[in-house]
Amino acid sequence: MKIKTIKDKNYKGRKVFLRVDYNVPIEKGIILDDTRIVATIPTINYLLSQGASLIIASHLGRPKGKPSPEFSLKVVAERLSQILNKEVKFAPDCVGDEVRKMASELKEGEILMLENLRFHPEEEEGDENFAKELASLCDAYVNDAFGTCHREHASVYTITKFAKDVAGGFLIEKEVNALSKLLTNPEKPFLLILGGAKVVDKIGMIKNLLDKVDTIITGGVMAYTFIKAKNWEVGDSKVEEEAIPLAKEIIKEVNKRHLEFHTPLDHVIVQKVSEDAIPIVTERGTVPHGWIGVDIGPQAIEEYTDCINRAKTIFWNGPMGIYEIEKFAKGTIEIAKAIGNSNAYSVIGGGDSVAAVNKAGVADKISHICTGGGASLEFLEKGTLPGIEVLKE
Ligand code: ADP
Ligand code: MG
Repeated sequence: MKIKTIKDKNYKGRKVFLRVDYNVPIEKGIILDDTRIVATIPTINYLLSQGASLIIASHLGRPKGKPSPEFSLKVVAERLSQILNKEVKFAPDCVGDEVRKMASELKEGEILMLENLRFHPEEEEGDENFAKELASLCDAYVNDAFGTCHREHASVYTITKFAKDVAGGFLIEKEVNALSKLLTNPEKPFLLILGGAKVVDKIGMIKNLLDKVDTIITGGVMAYTFIKAKNWEVGDSKVEEEAIPLAKEIIKEVNKRHLEFHTPLDHVIVQKVSEDAIPIVTERGTVPHGWIGVDIGPQAIEEYTDCINRAKTIFWNGPMGIYEIEKFAKGTIEIAKAIGNSNAYSVIGGGDSVAAVNKAGVADKISHICTGGGASLEFLEKGTLPGIEVLKE
């Protein structure tokens, strides 16, 4: 897939509307993690170096379509200003007369950040008039908000009908290239690592990858859902009941294709999920009555590490256990380290999976870390996204 990128355009003296994903975690007015802001700096610096002025827009949290101070982007504008060591003007809204005036007065090289797009319900509704108003602020449009590209929102999707010189920023280009590489001629063997929860949400992605992968290994709620689908004992482990028929279908498809499919050979189990629980390891791949599976066991780690070492392409989504609790994090951390040590082309998607890779300290050894969990899974399911389609050549 080829999208229009900022390298193909001329930005000299132009006002660029730059849609970013600055949906960062904020607690009591303090930004806990600015990764998403830092990730857009190459695109910002490039556009400025080309002689553009920037109107930066984002959403933050779920303000339910009305202004609310706790979801204001003001602190984000301040952080951006610190990172760039440059003034970032801040508009009190994203549409209206005052914003229009501020945008029109913007000079070459200056940056104006708009207030939260989701203070208006029209943003999530993909409203045409709202999109038109946003487009009227600028004379070129750049989207670098990969994490929002699966939504047909006004500033991501509808706006491209009205804005001039629509293009994708460096972040989007990187995401699309990395994910496309998994879908188009991935080097074999291709290993799919499935864990975490939210099984139903991931079924579409799994189905689409069945024709591309050679091996699947599972952990977390994902594994217990498959184990139960095979009518094996899972004790009181967390299972996504409504996903069981879907898991049965996947198992059938896996067998039809003669793929290598693993559930854990052993499990770390407890009687109650808590920091002070005393975990034991099962002898086999099932969980006895009255017990809860919270991590994959040592035999599973060994077998999965072997699968990782054999792979040439790896996609990982979902932790192998309740990795938030130190005692139950070993499986997830060991898998992350094994991926870090492998020479395979490796892609990680999913908020918790990315957090786990950071926790394991191997983020810099991963070929590509997706910035948008939901968007990356939907891209792997459908091969494109609404917000990407509108950027295509
Ligand atoms: P991602 O964000 O990477 O897509 P998910 O959100 O689907 O991953 O899953 C992550 C969550 O799954 C974590 O909060 C983790 O505690 C939970 N989880 C993993 N294994 C288990 C388990 N065995 N029992 C209960 N919860 C689990
Ligand atoms: Mg998650």
